[in-house]
Amino acid sequence: MRSISVLGATGSIGESAFDLLMRAGGPKAYRTVALTGATNIARLAEMARALQAEIAVTASPERLADLRDALAGSGIDAAAGPEAIAEAAARPADWTLSAIIGAAGLPPGLEVLRRGGTLALANKESLVAAGRLVMSEANRHGAQILPVDSEHSAIFQSLAGEPLENIESVTITASGGAFRDWPLERLVRATVAEASCHPNWAMGQRITIDSASMFNKALEIIETHEFFGIDEGRIKVLVHPQSIIHAFVSHRDGASIAHMGAPDMRHAIGYALNWPQRGPLPVAPLDLAEIGNLTFATPDEQRWPALRLAREVIRAGGAAGAVLNAAKEQALDDFIAGRIGFCDMAPAVERALDACAREAGFSADPTDLEQVIGWDRRGRHYAACTAGAA
Ligand code: NDP
Ligand code: MG
Repeated sequence: MRSISVLGATGSIGESAFDLLMRAGGPKAYRTVALTGATNIARLAEMARALQAEIAVTASPERLADLRDALAGSGIDAAAGPEAIAEAAARPADWTLSAIIGAAGLPPGLEVLRRGGTLALANKESLVAAGRLVMSEANRHGAQILPVDSEHSAIFQSLAGEPLENIESVTITASGGAFRDWPLERLVRATVAEASCHPNWAMGQRITIDSASMFNKALEIIETHEFFGIDEGRIKVLVHPQSIIHAFVSHRDGASIAHMGAPDMRHAIGYALNWPQRGPLPVAPLDLAEIGNLTFATPDEQRWPALRLAREVIRAGGAAGAVLNAAKEQALDDFIAGRIGFCDMAPAVERALDACAREAGFSADPTDLEQVIGWDRRGRHYAACTAGAA
């Protein structure tokens, strides 16, 4: 029986993974090693009981007593804190899904790679913040990374082993998020509630707001560069409101191979779970006659400065990705807390990138976690709204 762990089990991706695991037979089909969460203790305990996990871990030490209570009599171990999550990730398992949100996903993801495991990676932030480190640890330890972000799963499936020299370009699509058709003047006043509604995908709140600001697509441009080793000039973005084609790969002979599917993350998660086989998934088949039209447009980088910043970060190299990711997380915190407006997020990230470049330059790639954390702190510091006058 295959053993699995799910990091970030209580989130949107974690719930979709749980759904797939339970449909497959739950503990009859998989041996669950570890499940992790943060604030949603009741759900974490419920999932751990349903899958008969060995251990459930919360990121918050102050919630350990509640987790222990919720697991009483189950025989499931409980632990808490970021180190405990990293230790849980280090426990041998055949397949580990990293679905923690934000840079907090990086340390446990590295633990999976260091034990030579298979890492199904939804946590794009780890590739943005530390792409070289993540990929080199995977190579060094013979670990396998399977992309779970829908566009990257689509590229992975469309590349089908083709060597990079045969690839002309890779195009990822963007729905355009909640504000695709809003005039710029209205965007300035966009509220958190308005930014938290996605037209096509049901996702966690943070990535939904990132979709509205296109920072999600900015992270994905960098993720494409880091994971597939494709240079920035050959990574394209198209606005595709129907979210049916997730990505396509254009070959030098003029052929493009596109990946199509309903906007349901259970496809990409299930593909990674069944890889290298394909198995049945509870995803509705496409009815293209019903959909009727697939439309595409070039995104306006004036309207979406995040896309320009992603390209600048790739060109700068080194630690710029760690700064962009951290600064974006800080700006998003400030927007959600009502401290800054929707259109203030990209300038905050740009300010942090400029300040960090002036202070230390981005020349060298971070070679260990401590260096990434150092850049992450700088990025958050300069992006914070209190640093606005600096
Ligand atoms: P959610 O916010 O829904 O869930 C995040 C998960 O991480 C929850 O289990 C949460 O616990 C846990 N968590 C939060 N903070 C911490 C922390 N500091 N340390 C450890 N665990 C923590 O996020 P999503 O599921 O939307 O996204 C997860 C990842 O997948 C992100 O990297 C995102 O970019 C990526 N992704 C998501 C997609 C989607 O459709 N949602 C699509 C493509 C990629 P709790 O809920 O208990 O507080
Ligand atoms: Mg995506």
